Amino acid sequence: MPLVKCADCGTEVSDQAPACPKCGRPIATHVTERTSRRIKSHVLGAVFLMIVGPITCMAGLPSHAGGDPNMYFSVFGTLAFLGGLTWYIISRFRAWWRHG
Ligand SMILES: [Zn+2]
Repeated sequence: MPLVKCADCGTEVSDQAPACPKCGRPIATHVTERTSRRIKSHVLGAVFLMIVGPITCMAGLPSHAGGDPNMYFSVFGTLAFLGGLTWYIISRFRAWWRHG
């Protein structure tokens, strides 16, 4: 369990503690904010992949009727989308796991 220094009185407090036991300054809140910001950046990355995936798939579609779609674009786009979806679910799950 890592210790953090209270910004007000300098007492070493567990970062899991809701507040400094000496002066009562809240401790856990800014830790939670930092965690949720990291989760947000994960969600943003996942959403980015979920947007880029279908665009890549469409970019691989034939420009003329009857042509074959580009396999590399289709496969890459599908993988990017599925990866982003999995990433998104894991990020949401971890946020739920940490914060209930
Ligand atoms: Zn304190």
